[in-house]
Amino acid sequence: MPFRLTSDDILKYMRQPFPCQSVEPDENYDEADVIIAGSGPVGMTFARTILENNQDVKVLMLDIGSQDSAVIGEHHKNSIKYQKDIDAFVNVIKGALQPVSVPPADTYIPTLLGNGWTPPLGNNGQSTLIFHGSNPSQIREKNLKASAVTRTVGGMATHWTCACPTPHDEELKTNPIPDLERQTLYEQARKLLNVHNDQYDKNDNGDDISIRHNVVKNTLLKELPKRNVQSIPLAVERRRDNPNYVTWSGANTVLGDLARFKGRFRLRDEMRVTRLSSDPECATEVGGVCLRNLKTNSDVFARARAYVITCGAVGTPSVAAVRNLGVQLPALGHYLCEQSLAFCQIVMKQEMIDRISNNDEWKTRIEEHMGRHPQDPLPIPFADNEPQVMIPYTSDTPWHCQIHRDAFSYGDVGPRADSRVVVDLRFFGKQEIQKKNRVIFFGPEKSPLSWKAGVKDTYGMPQATFEVERSQQDRINDQRMMKDMCDVANILGAYLPGSYPQFMEPGLALHITGTTRIGEDDQTSVANPSSQVHGINNLWVGGNGCIPDTMGSNPTLTSVSISSFLPACCLH
Ligand SMILES: Cc1cc2nc3c(=O)[nH]c(=O)nc-3n(C[C@H](O)[C@H](O)[C@H](O)COP(=O)(O)OP(=O)(O)OC[C@H]3O[C@@H](n4cnc5c(N)ncnc54)[C@H](O)[C@@H]3O)c2cc1C
Repeated sequence: MPFRLTSDDILKYMRQPFPCQSVEPDENYDEADVIIAGSGPVGMTFARTILENNQDVKVLMLDIGSQDSAVIGEHHKNSIKYQKDIDAFVNVIKGALQPVSVPPADTYIPTLLGNGWTPPLGNNGQSTLIFHGSNPSQIREKNLKASAVTRTVGGMATHWTCACPTPHDEELKTNPIPDLERQTLYEQARKLLNVHNDQYDKNDNGDDISIRHNVVKNTLLKELPKRNVQSIPLAVERRRDNPNYVTWSGANTVLGDLARFKGRFRLRDEMRVTRLSSDPECATEVGGVCLRNLKTNSDVFARARAYVITCGAVGTPSVAAVRNLGVQLPALGHYLCEQSLAFCQIVMKQEMIDRISNNDEWKTRIEEHMGRHPQDPLPIPFADNEPQVMIPYTSDTPWHCQIHRDAFSYGDVGPRADSRVVVDLRFFGKQEIQKKNRVIFFGPEKSPLSWKAGVKDTYGMPQATFEVERSQQDRINDQRMMKDMCDVANILGAYLPGSYPQFMEPGLALHITGTTRIGEDDQTSVANPSSQVHGINNLWVGGNGCIPDTMGSNPTLTSVSISSFLPACCLH
């Protein structure tokens, strides 16, 4: 099978002398056996498994963002500040998200009379100012307007919600990894991300941990007995030293204890991986990568034996698009799927609050709370944890439902209500797989290879332009999903004013897949089942872009499982 051959290949490349002898490395630059671009959870999966399975190998990881925490890539929500006030984390997420493609604004100012400067009329009779960071090639109707990236060490896993459900078989139809191996890989991915599904249910003594979680879960279990209501499997662990708090998994969790790699792992932040360069002696091998040190604004050329690009579902094809290798990748950026996202918030029903007041198991905690805060009208301790409940994807209801309370870039409750009685409903709908749905990286001259001439994003990488449309079938599913969300919401409570049922802007799910999908066929996929790019011997890709299927479930567990396939093979 091809993936077994590629596993041998990576070892072969690690043993060979540097493939590109004609280009001098930067004199201040350290050589490594493997260069990994991107320090999110998927980059860390590659790093850990390569380092653990190859004792002499050195890994250099490069990230365009800065290291914002003392621990490499830690989840920022582990700070007590945010565990005490989840709404405050909304601003952290807002700050972390940088939009991918922003069409130029309508900047014609009809009231600007007098002699102020006015842009000349464009070809089509319209005048638009092109601000830095806006994308003149973006067609508004085909944009994923809310799609964003996070440029920081640890990637999006510095702020993610950590939901890691195992996908339904229908969500894995195109996945080329054989069933048995896939199950092992999911198990391994759950370990790497430290996934648990009981951290909000019962403690070691069998007592309920969270009142709110249990009341929401039990209400839904009673009212929807056939929907397999359950706790969300989360990449999280309750703290032993203070069980009121939890430790959310970040990229650091995946990497594990650095000390055991004895200096074989190095990370350099604020280093942009700009493009791949071919080996002059062999057009189907990467000979090095061009980097920009963003701190000094200087360019560096770095070489290794193997290269792994894990820069996110937009960043990875953006790096792979700019290459002078003699290999066509017709599927690069295509087959893009993004989830629709239906959202609302409810205030719990009076009868649920009464059930809390009358519950014998919670009596002591409630009395203790009321004793300390006699004026509090709610029988819920301030430190009580949020609900974390889900209804999984099924063939009849092909969407993933989260009924929980967490911080996103929207949905903060503020002074509108007491946050303890608010529950968020987020329903994620899949998108039909179509080749025409894609992200592209050319400027007005429409040349994918012309990186120098094209429009750039704020970081100087080729500007991404989306061409994505939902099909008629997608719309029908979305309509059904919205109705389902409203039905579930009505079981729990009344809509919070301002958070009525709505579809969020396209792209807000932040779960783009397909742009570097894996598969056997080099016309319909970018990499083989072990993530090695078709036709390029020493290049691997990783991330949600590698997922070949359309999913309603959150994608990170699947991406981590796919990217650990390579080292699993190496062991054979
Ligand atoms: C609000 C929010 C909630 C989320 N909730 C969930 C959830 O519950 N479940 C789930 O499965 N997923 C969730 N996600 C998505 C999840 O975080 C991502 O799927 C996951 O982080 C992807 O991992 P990655 O390593 O592939 O990419 P990323 O985490 O995006 O990391 C990519 C890294 O590449 C770096 N980079 C980009 N371009 C370059 C370049 N040219 N050179 C060098 N470095 C570069 C970036 O700085 C970044 O560090 C959520 C995300 C957000 C923001």
